[in-house]
Amino acid sequence: MSAPASRVGCRAKIMDMLHSPARTRASAEWLVGQRGTVVGVLRSGTLALLELDGEPHMFPCGVRRWSVHWDDLLVYTVQPGPDDSPDDYRLGLTGSGREAVHHAVRPGTVFGACGALAHPLPFCGWSLPFKATAVKACPECSHLVRTAS
Ligand SMILES: [Zn+2]
Repeated sequence: MSAPASRVGCRAKIMDMLHSPARTRASAEWLVGQRGTVVGVLRSGTLALLELDGEPHMFPCGVRRWSVHWDDLLVYTVQPGPDDSPDDYRLGLTGSGREAVHHAVRPGTVFGACGALAHPLPFCGWSLPFKATAVKACPECSHLVRTAS
């Protein structure tokens, strides 16, 4: 196990409710099985401050952040931030033919991550995902997609 501080930003699932503080255990029935992101480390590293996924009205008493003992958690990824994959971006073009540049466009918009006004492939529409590895990929879009995920 790595040092607790380095786990901030990790994704975690609440597996159990044996070691956590009484206030957390009181809502065990609801909390076990929930997923969230580690946003802090408490009590000299013995507890994780977990921010649960979802909307505030879903949580017991509207509380989104809970202190949970590490032994009650399954920390399953070290990727910080939300589960947002680059596949969420659609392929958009500026220019045409061999000069066309590939931009990363959010579904429902017509602007690349770099701000360029893009248009879809005429024969595929917005159905193609943006690939940061494509030869014609806009460098700014590629960079933004990589750092955002
Ligand atoms: Zn771009």
